[in-house]
Amino acid sequence: MTNLYDLVILGGGPAGLSAGVYAGRAGLKTVIVEKGLIGGQLQNTEDVENYPGIRKTTGPELSEVMGAHPKDFDVEEKYGEVQSLQLTGEYKIVDLGKEKLTTRAILIATGATPRKLGVPGEAELSGRGVSYCAICDGAFFKNKELLVIGGGDSAVEEGNFLTRFASKVTIVHRRDKLRATPILQQKAMDNPKVDFVWNHAVESIEGGRKVETVVLRNTVDGSKQTVKADGIFIYVGLNPNTDFLKESSILDEHGYIVTNEEMETSIPGVFAAGDVRQKKLRQIITAASDGAIAAMNIYEYIENKSSITVK
Ligand code: NAP
Repeated sequence: MTNLYDLVILGGGPAGLSAGVYAGRAGLKTVIVEKGLIGGQLQNTEDVENYPGIRKTTGPELSEVMGAHPKDFDVEEKYGEVQSLQLTGEYKIVDLGKEKLTTRAILIATGATPRKLGVPGEAELSGRGVSYCAICDGAFFKNKELLVIGGGDSAVEEGNFLTRFASKVTIVHRRDKLRATPILQQKAMDNPKVDFVWNHAVESIEGGRKVETVVLRNTVDGSKQTVKADGIFIYVGLNPNTDFLKESSILDEHGYIVTNEEMETSIPGVFAAGDVRQKKLRQIITAASDGAIAAMNIYEYIENKSSITVK
């Protein structure tokens, strides 16, 4: 059978790449399918300082070395987007439009995408002052005043990063307490260029050719104020990349894939790993760990199905 794989990995972020290394080393004929950039969300992260053994690096640098690693074990890489999937049965089919891949197992490691606020002006001014990626767009805001929306790790970490360019960064959070890790909070509190506006949410984003002002609503008393801003960076959480699985039975009510600790979904031969999975801690290390666990369980699944792999 042409294009027959032991394992098709959907997504080339830390989960998919780690699974690629483990699957390749286990001798499984494996391909990683990526629709954007190898590294996934990691490509949009500036500093990485919590990946054991690598004390400080950048997202793009780590993406590059992680991306090269599965190739050491003959793992293929393809670029494309899933058009349709056949998940049931012993052989699964991944239709990429230009070609169909037949495989014994599938690992879904498609990650998540920054969530939108959904307020007036956001879509219209996207790319003209509205951004979801500090590492991509930060340098356009030298000596400018920026708003960062959100109170999680991303908002606080990227808010700090943006002070390399901006003259002032105001983090606007809808509550009076950040969700971010204490060490990130402390860095932001200690940064003279970072300011906080508590208990406020974005009502609308306004401007002509580019962002000029943002209307904020007080989440306690409902009052509104208009603040000047040259740009607004939005970090209000993630949406799982599972639109192509909407008809399947493996998603929870928020669209995350439900698995057990072995990364198995309820469909035999279909596994999930990384940010796309229903879980609490979404980190590079937990994605990589998921990938390793998934790959070894996939190896076992294939061994139990047949004594010969397709290599
Ligand atoms: P997150 O942890 O889900 O935080 C989202 C933040 O946005 C929360 O503070 C939330 O407020 C706020 N928010 C949600 N909807 C909003 C809305 N409509 N308007 C205003 N604010 C809104 O998302 P994240 O920061 O993107 O992080 C995602 C995952 O990646 C997390 O697991 C995080 O730990 C991880 N991560 C880790 C690192 C690191 O370790 N260095 C860096 C980046 C991300 P509430 O707090 O009120 O809910």
